[in-house]
Amino acid sequence: MELQRPTPSRRTLLRSGAYLGAAALGLAAAATAAPAHASDRRAAGTARRAAVAYPPTHWIPASTSNYTVATRPTQYPVEFVVVHVTQETFQDAMKIFQNPAKKVSSHYMVASADGYVGQFVREKDVAWHAGNWDYNTRSIGIEHEGWVDRPEYFTDAMYASSARLTAAVCDRYGIPKDRKHIIAHSEVPKATHTDPGPLWDWDRYIALVNTATAGPVRPYA
Ligand SMILES: [Zn+2]
Repeated sequence: MELQRPTPSRRTLLRSGAYLGAAALGLAAAATAAPAHASDRRAAGTARRAAVAYPPTHWIPASTSNYTVATRPTQYPVEFVVVHVTQETFQDAMKIFQNPAKKVSSHYMVASADGYVGQFVREKDVAWHAGNWDYNTRSIGIEHEGWVDRPEYFTDAMYASSARLTAAVCDRYGIPKDRKHIIAHSEVPKATHTDPGPLWDWDRYIALVNTATAGPVRPYA
């Protein structure tokens, strides 16, 4: 796991069940150790350069078999944010994104308990999340840990963290912060999925996106 933010506190990381899941899978790179080898130093340099991304996220790359490399927004405009609910735990969804046989990914995933944000695909690349190639090319996909019929997963922390992320994405690409541009997976033409479902509080979410303090916003990639 490559950290976009160079010096997260261990306490912060340990609070996150998602991080613990990553560690259990052996994905937690020695982010705090002094890199001994040239390749590690290069990796550390990459992490430092990526530290301008906002809000802070952890880089947990999806399998390269699960997305399409692109040069957005040059190659395709980025016009939508697509909101998803995983129907899986964070850890299980992460494993799916890392499994080259699954052919699915998302740019981001937000954990239920604490709003932890993992990034799996660079924004310049096309994640396979919407089930519609045209919409995939023109959108950023954000997964939320939980189930459409279990609103207890839609925590205050998740709404707040996701709204900050969506606000930053909208600011990066000039996407209006409204329901025409921040859409449900179920609203993607020909979608076969129902997420995030009727229990997702859109009024609250859009209000939070519009009041989020995004801070200095620079694209990750
Ligand atoms: Zn979905």
